[in-house]
Formats: sequence, structure tokens, C-alpha cells
Amino acid sequence: MISKTSVACESLLLKASECIGGDSPRLDAELLLSHVTGLSRTSFRAWPDREVSADQAADFESLVSERVSGKPIAYLLGHQEFWSLTLLVSASTLIPRPDTECVVEVALSLPLPGSARILDLGTGTGAIALALASERPNWQVTACDCVDAAVELARRNARELGLSVSVVRSSWFSGLMAGKFDLVVSNPPYIASADRHLEQGDVRFEPSSALVSGSDGLDDIRLIVRQAPGWLEVGGWLLVEHGFDQAEAVRSLFESRGFVAVESRKDYGNRDRMTLGQWTGV
Ligand code: GLN
Repeated sequence: MISKTSVACESLLLKASECIGGDSPRLDAELLLSHVTGLSRTSFRAWPDREVSADQAADFESLVSERVSGKPIAYLLGHQEFWSLTLLVSASTLIPRPDTECVVEVALSLPLPGSARILDLGTGTGAIALALASERPNWQVTACDCVDAAVELARRNARELGLSVSVVRSSWFSGLMAGKFDLVVSNPPYIASADRHLEQGDVRFEPSSALVSGSDGLDDIRLIVRQAPGWLEVGGWLLVEHGFDQAEAVRSLFESRGFVAVESRKDYGNRDRMTLGQWTGV
């Protein structure tokens, strides 16, 4: 039964949208109200006078105030869409970004064998590994992360999605069983430690271990590029995401390590945001 103090959805949404600010206040408010009530976003439009209980309104308002304080919407909802998948997220992992879907697209476009062996380094929620496994069921996909909570979350995502990805705890290559891969792919941390970007938006709430990599942001990419050849088949590929202003530096790291066919590719904003190269074993 709806209590006397029940509140109309539209009035809750209007008030919340005014407080939330940012790029998509109305969308954020609708997602949070939908999360609390179990009602679909479209139902709020179709039936704006529909009432929710006072308890639900209170739960909604407390989520709205967390959102107003800057907490990312994905952490409040507990999930994030990536590729065609809904991934569980937690504060121990980076929130998967749309631009990382471009990394998945590039990986899928490479000339890889039908039962390719793939390694996703620093998998977080498992986003890249799971997207690849969902598209190529015959690929043998391994994912690793150095954070226990991320390993557990990536395993849980794989289980819930019914996808076969082997998730292991490893700091980059150090904890892996010896083996060779046809593709090593990574969205590693790549933000410089003094970057002001870290003081704004969602990144304030995300683990710095997933974001920051030394004074120029390239410490982890340097390590990955240096060590990857020991883990790649002859003819295998390395593909890493990086910042929009790091493409030239990353290409020269690849080239000086002996990778060939080195090139950068664009994100959805048309900026060079990932670099790939082939290991020919020389
Ligand atoms: N693309 C993210 C950001 O700039 C950073 C992700 C990362 O460091 N891997 O917000």
C-alpha cells in the first residue's frame, strides 16, 4: 500500500535534476530513481504522476546527495554498461569507459588465429577480456589484476555473464604461469601523478592504482612494452590504451623495443588513444 506521504516521480526527478548538475542531471536522476524503485526510466515519462513510497523517496534522496557530492553514477548503481555487457563495478576498480570499447574494436580487427590466446593486463572489472570473450568464444582469454578485489569482481562478472575468462592475480606479468599469447592488451594506469585532471569528476573516487603511473604517466606502459615480447608469440600483437597526448611517446617505446607495424588508433573523440605493434621475434 502506498503511504499518505508518497511522492510523485516527476516532482522527485525535477528537484533532483536541479541539484545534481553536471552533463546529464536528468539522466542521472532517472537512473537512480529506477534503481531504487525497480521502475523503468520510460515509465517516468509515460506516467509522471505515479507515486513512490516515502521510504523509496528517502532512499532516492540519499543517493542523489551522494551524486551531488560527486560520487560516480556507476558506483551508486553498482553496474556499468560496456560493449554489449552490463558489468558489476565497485570502488576497487576503474569504471569502464566508452573509449575503451575502441580498444576492443581494434583487438577484434587484428589478424589473429581462430583459437587465439589473449591476455588482458590490469583487467579491473574484466571489461576488455569479457567483451573479447563475448565476441570470440573460441579465443582463450586470460585476465589479470594485482588487486584481490578486482580479481574477485572480474571472476564474478565472468560468472554472471556466463563467459569463459580465466582471471588470475598478477602484477602485470610477474605472477603469470609461463606461456605465449597472440595478443596482449591493456588499459593500464597512465595519468601523470601531478595531473590536475585527478582533482575533477569521477576519477576523484576511483582507485589511484588504476589511474596514476609515475611522474609522466608512462611507468606502467614502459614496463609492459619492455616485458611483453617475452610473452608474445612470433607475430603476436601488443595493444595498449594511453592518454591523448602520449601517442608519440608510446610509439617510440614500441619501436625502440623492436615492435613493427607500430601505429596509434583513435578514440570516439578522434584522438590518438591507443597504440599497437607486432612482435616479430627479432
Ligand atoms: N581514461 C581515464 C581518464 O582519463 C583514465 C584511465 C586510465 O588511467 N587507464 O579518466
